Amino acid sequence: MDPIVHHIIGGQRTAGHGTRQSDVFNPATGQVARKVVLGTRADVDAAVAAASAAFPAWAAQTPLARARVMFRFRDLLEQNAAKMSAIVTAEHGKVLSDAGGEVTRGLEVVEFACGIPDLLKGEFSDSVGRGVDSFSLRQPLGVVAGITPFNFPCMVPLWMAPIALACGNTFILKPSERDPSASLLLADLLKQAGLPDGVFNVVQGDKEAVDAILEHPDIAAVSFVGSTPIAEYIYRTGTATGKRVQALGGAKNHMVVMPDADLEQATDALMGAGYGAAGERCMAISVAVAVGGIGDALIEKLAPRVRALKVAPGTDPEAEMGPLVTGTHLNKVRGYVDAGVAAGAKLVVDGRDLKLQGYEDGFYLGGCLFDDVTPDMTIYKEEIFGPVLSVVRVEKFDDAMKLINEHEYGNGTAVFTRDGDVARAFMNGVQVGMVGINVPIPVPVAYHSFGGWKRSLFGDHHVYGREGVRFYTKLKTVTSRWPTGIRAGAQFVMPTTG
Ligand code: NAD
Repeated sequence: MDPIVHHIIGGQRTAGHGTRQSDVFNPATGQVARKVVLGTRADVDAAVAAASAAFPAWAAQTPLARARVMFRFRDLLEQNAAKMSAIVTAEHGKVLSDAGGEVTRGLEVVEFACGIPDLLKGEFSDSVGRGVDSFSLRQPLGVVAGITPFNFPCMVPLWMAPIALACGNTFILKPSERDPSASLLLADLLKQAGLPDGVFNVVQGDKEAVDAILEHPDIAAVSFVGSTPIAEYIYRTGTATGKRVQALGGAKNHMVVMPDADLEQATDALMGAGYGAAGERCMAISVAVAVGGIGDALIEKLAPRVRALKVAPGTDPEAEMGPLVTGTHLNKVRGYVDAGVAAGAKLVVDGRDLKLQGYEDGFYLGGCLFDDVTPDMTIYKEEIFGPVLSVVRVEKFDDAMKLINEHEYGNGTAVFTRDGDVARAFMNGVQVGMVGINVPIPVPVAYHSFGGWKRSLFGDHHVYGREGVRFYTKLKTVTSRWPTGIRAGAQFVMPTTG
């Protein structure tokens, strides 16, 4: 991996115009592993110039030709999956097998994008008038940008770029400055797959680069994934400058455990969904809602499992959970645990004192489990984004629904039950974008679409799947007549059919 992570503009690695750099840590050791350059307005201008210059030729390629690039990219990504996973683990900290899962979920979006000739097919109506036909086409927007979070440095860029590119757009990726190296491997593989220079560019950086993207008049659309305050800012600023924007934000995902649930299954689900990736997933479960007296049995099953969690560097094949991404984030999550205790929640398992021998400076936190959490507490209201699970006890199913529907976030949720009526009522009534029935992390597959409700998404489109194709294209409808047919002469009234 490069000691300094650069931009890729017009197919070339470049340090750009800026002088600022940011530390990139190895979370397992707590040491600075490398630096990333932080882009300036001039770097964004250069990337937009490269992407604008590349756009006409790329958009003019047939959808089939663009799909063939995606087919080659898909194979290269598969061949380089281990390399990509190692890069993700080195900078994010998640365990290697989980990094592999992230690469696979990203690869599935590339596979979806391989079907772009079919996905771009429009509608055709023969004879909308006498001798007149009508048909629709979807055309690319131009230069589009993606701004991505630290927690999926490979998968989230792949939620966006393959579809945007397959639709004929050119793309500028602004990855998270906390784990930027995956973006360089993505760019290398796209180049090897035959993508022309300038079609996919990477500008590293922070707020300065983001603001330059939002204000640039030649960027047509922005896809964002990250925390809610920034998502809202991106949406407001981007749309104010006339861009199409989809901005996915944070989450507080509840899993309802009904009294009739299979408790073993529910416990397994909560362990994986609460503590996998150290809780740094926007679809992590952070609240278990125990309904109708099942709370005691649930805590009894969960507590020993949380205590026994194997926390280790992500490269350890035995590890179930790695470190958090940075020391700053570790302190923030720790602060939430302190706040929960101060507010009177019962800390059943306290992971705050975990120290790993040989990795004393790593950003580790053991699994934490709270019981008797109430809706007025900060640990209930806010997204913690760490290995902290809160159990809230309620009497009835309706109370659980009310909790979820009154929460400001609406990304994912799940219900564990054997009762079909309950599952159906939940699925219909819950004010959340992605719902699991006995499935704790209901991340839609690539041929559906991903997106939350309420303050978990700003904009009209979910990401990837057909929603992605709609987001990255403009609809054009053509009404056509050939001069061989009926001549109506000049008409001064609104045309009607017939
Ligand atoms: P973040 O909001 O801090 O950063 C996301 C991106 O925004 C990064 O590229 C960052 O450089 C940029 N950014 C940060 N501060 C900015 C500012 N003030 N102005 C302009 N740009 C800024 O998010 P994160 O910590 O990297 O990621 C974790 C968050 O992302 C969590 O809230 C998580 O729920 C959310 N997330 C949501 C989804 C989803 O699909 N809804 C998926 C993954 C992560």
